[in-house]
Amino acid sequence: MNLADSEIVSGILDREGYRICTDIREADAVFLNTCAVRDNAEQRIYGRLANLKPLKSERSHMIVGILGCMAERLRKSLIEDQNLVDIVCGPDEYRNLPMLIDDAFDGEKGVRVQLSRVETYDDITPLRTEGISAWIAVMRGCDKFCTFCVVPFTRGRERSRGIRNIVHEIERLVGRGFREVTLLGQNVNSYRDGDHDFADLLREVAAVDPSLRVRFTTSHPQDMSDKLIETVAAHDNICKYIHLPVQSGSDRILELMNRTYTADHYLGLVEKIRRAIPGVALSTDVIAGFPTETEEDHRMTLELMDRVKFDGAFMFKYSPRENTRAYKMGDDVPDDIKGRRLQEIINMQRDISYQINRKLIGSMQTILLEGPSKRSEKEWMGRTDTNKTVIIANDEYAAGEYVRVHVTSATSATLFGTAAPITESLSAA
Ligand code: SAH
Ligand code: SF4
Repeated sequence: MNLADSEIVSGILDREGYRICTDIREADAVFLNTCAVRDNAEQRIYGRLANLKPLKSERSHMIVGILGCMAERLRKSLIEDQNLVDIVCGPDEYRNLPMLIDDAFDGEKGVRVQLSRVETYDDITPLRTEGISAWIAVMRGCDKFCTFCVVPFTRGRERSRGIRNIVHEIERLVGRGFREVTLLGQNVNSYRDGDHDFADLLREVAAVDPSLRVRFTTSHPQDMSDKLIETVAAHDNICKYIHLPVQSGSDRILELMNRTYTADHYLGLVEKIRRAIPGVALSTDVIAGFPTETEEDHRMTLELMDRVKFDGAFMFKYSPRENTRAYKMGDDVPDDIKGRRLQEIINMQRDISYQINRKLIGSMQTILLEGPSKRSEKEWMGRTDTNKTVIIANDEYAAGEYVRVHVTSATSATLFGTAAPITESLSAA
């Protein structure tokens, strides 16, 4: 979401004649787009700010701005505590950045953190570098108020962009050679454009180009509709991968979290999705050590993970966030116990992911090639429709090509394979 927001900010500034520079030592303005969802995300920003200090003392005209959720949460204290910050700008105020920059160059610091009920930046063309895959925010904000979560406070109420503009944006991206889009929202199931819901949007996006891969995130287990499941099943180019955060396997904790579903509901939903979409991959988010979580609650989370057998998971230690309802419940699970529970969750998921990936050895997969792997220019990385990372040796294909791959080995995180001699289109795969 922050990547997509940074591209919106770049789009706004580009219109005003500002240009992105690749070397920070040449920048007249530096912006940090921030996340406030857990304390460690915020600590990283303080680390970045500390690194900026020497640069700012060398280049006294340089301005520093904090954007995003931390700006919204901490407001003018960021200017007061950090004597190098000139601009604090929340997620709904990016249209005011050019004005804030002008003021900052005149020596006047500025804070804009009003949240909006309508701002979707629908008319702004995000500035994207050329690539294969694009993130597209289709809605902003969240009305769910999970008790641990700061997002409703930092990103405000839920609102959606219109289908027409989203489809036009994607048509233009396809024209530029993009091969994959991920539609983003805190809870895409709440997307609305008049009488149209998220499944309608997904259908329209899938129709833009049959060889464009369409992904989306995040779905809330409470309102994942049958229509959405059927829409994913019915379109070859809507990826068979669903991120469905469960957070906990204990009904008592789920209730305290205000997640509004039970473990049984979740398991029923998983069964329904698997029946409707054969071969679908599922991933989840899990929090360890929510207030009052007992060993029994923790065991229920492990049990649920063992029953579902997720392809992947994002796993976190509970981090208390001011203003949330959970904050008032206290943070009573000691850090070492949280850490141990998180490790058990990670270990279990690693084993499950490895077992699932191991079964794919010997299979053929179609991957969309993204570019060289992190390790070597000669090894290329692509992804399956089910979002699994695959590494192949490559000196004949280009980014954006679909390649059929024979899987030869696997770890819990990655598949390795050899490319079959022919490339095929996605619809033929
Ligand atoms: N809207 C999405 C993502 C929200 S943030 C959703 O509902 O899934 C991504 C993940 O961060 C959440 O799913 C949750 O697992 C985790 N998270 C949010 N607040 C947290 C907190 N206070 N402590 C630890 N993890 C948190
Ligand atoms: Fe936060 Fe819950 Fe909204 Fe996700 S659905 S952003 S966890 S409040």
